[in-house]
Amino acid sequence: MSTFDLRLTDHPTSDADRDAVVADPVFGKFFTDHMAVADYTEGRGWHDHRIVATEDFRLHPAAAVLHYGQEIFEGLKAYRHADDSVWLFRPERNAARFVSSAQRLEMAPFPEEAFLASLQELVTLEQAWVPQPDGEKSLYLRPFQIANEPYLGVREAKNYIYGLLATPVGAYYPAPVKLWVTPNYTRAAPGGTGAAKCGGNYAASLAAANEAAAHGCGQVLYLDGAEHRWLEECGTMNFMMLTADGEMVTPALGSILPGVTRDSLLRLAAEHGLTPVERQISIDELREGVTSGQITETFACGTAAVITPIVGFNSPEHGEQVVGDGEPGARTKELRAHLLDIQYGRAEDRHGWMRKVC
Ligand SMILES: *Cc1c(COP(=O)(O)O)cnc(C)c1O
Repeated sequence: MSTFDLRLTDHPTSDADRDAVVADPVFGKFFTDHMAVADYTEGRGWHDHRIVATEDFRLHPAAAVLHYGQEIFEGLKAYRHADDSVWLFRPERNAARFVSSAQRLEMAPFPEEAFLASLQELVTLEQAWVPQPDGEKSLYLRPFQIANEPYLGVREAKNYIYGLLATPVGAYYPAPVKLWVTPNYTRAAPGGTGAAKCGGNYAASLAAANEAAAHGCGQVLYLDGAEHRWLEECGTMNFMMLTADGEMVTPALGSILPGVTRDSLLRLAAEHGLTPVERQISIDELREGVTSGQITETFACGTAAVITPIVGFNSPEHGEQVVGDGEPGARTKELRAHLLDIQYGRAEDRHGWMRKVC
């Protein structure tokens, strides 16, 4: 049974144009012909679930999202397997996180069943846009929600739009990076929105990202907002380190984003002879551990890049530091390959993570 009313576009992309995009995808630039949409009205709830042509929204200039930033989003991928079937990876985690992000921003939560139905129905319709798996290609899915009530008062809005976009994607951050330990910016504060996947967190991160780039670093490593001492995450990815004692250590949840990739790697750790540990990690522990060799490998993880090897750190106070021999670690590469193999159906799905779409 279909939950989303299907209204097909009258100007579909030609097969030739679509195949060209799918063969050589550019993340976030080309979108499938259709998107899923639903509306929320106070008193009426969610209604008009539909799949329509991907086209502009009409928004009143006073729409709350444009002024006070009530916006949340998700990110996950559809993977094509060798037998041409198409699969999602743990989409119910994204559905649940979308609800908790909504709650933190006082937005009407979009029901998890409707979220999952939107993925199922849009990906099934647009399956020709799911690339072949070579080069880690996939169809990236971007659920999001905005407040569209036209009202300038500061309170939660009464109307929302749910949307789901799909864009074919290749490998996202394939190269190893150095992290900039920013002395000037924090990403989240105790009691703030660090654990919510909201656009505002990303707007606030751009200055730090540009500061990192100016210092030759590909990503930022944020420290906590209260003491500026404890490792948090990279702003679009969670942070992990491997130790000489065979531990996989990552900052405990709290003001960081609870990543699906982070959780999955913690659950895969034992199969790689690693003990998963979630705890506070101080910047001094990181620095001393990298110097002494107690910390053998570091990496960042998230849906887009799966795992990005971290080969060094830079900060104004302590200068440049190299992890190990400055090359991606062997365990890092193994873990990355293992997770990709599960996602693309090449390794056994022992944890029951994959959901077949079509
Ligand atoms: C989305 C995101 C991550 C990674 O989460 P995944 O579920 O693994 O994709 C990490 N940090 C932030 C700030 C994020 O927004």
